[in-house]
Amino acid sequence: MRHPATSADDFHCIELMVGTRDVGALYYKVCHRCRIGYVGKLSINEEYQGLGLGSSVLAAAHEEAPAPDYCWWTSHQDGSAQPFWQLIGSRTGAGYQFATESICPHVGE
Ligand SMILES: [Zn+2]
Repeated sequence: MRHPATSADDFHCIELMVGTRDVGALYYKVCHRCRIGYVGKLSINEEYQGLGLGSSVLAAAHEEAPAPDYCWWTSHQDGSAQPFWQLIGSRTGAGYQFATESICPHVGE
């Protein structure tokens, strides 16, 4: 099945709300041609980390590009974030390797 080309220049954004409070956001892109997902940024307020919010917002993104059919990448993260991405990667089968260069011609940084 062919998907129409998406306008790949804009990040999709899912905002994380707890009650009426905006506690974080996920910015990502999906390329249906190359079957990849790319997380540009996942930010969660410090006091809301470790509650599973990150994995649930990523699960919402995966509905658009389900692993392992789609291979997911993330931008380079600082050292403290790496165990999180390794956990998510092994739990979802999405991979979540760190993108060090452009991963497809349609999704860049
Ligand atoms: Zn592509």
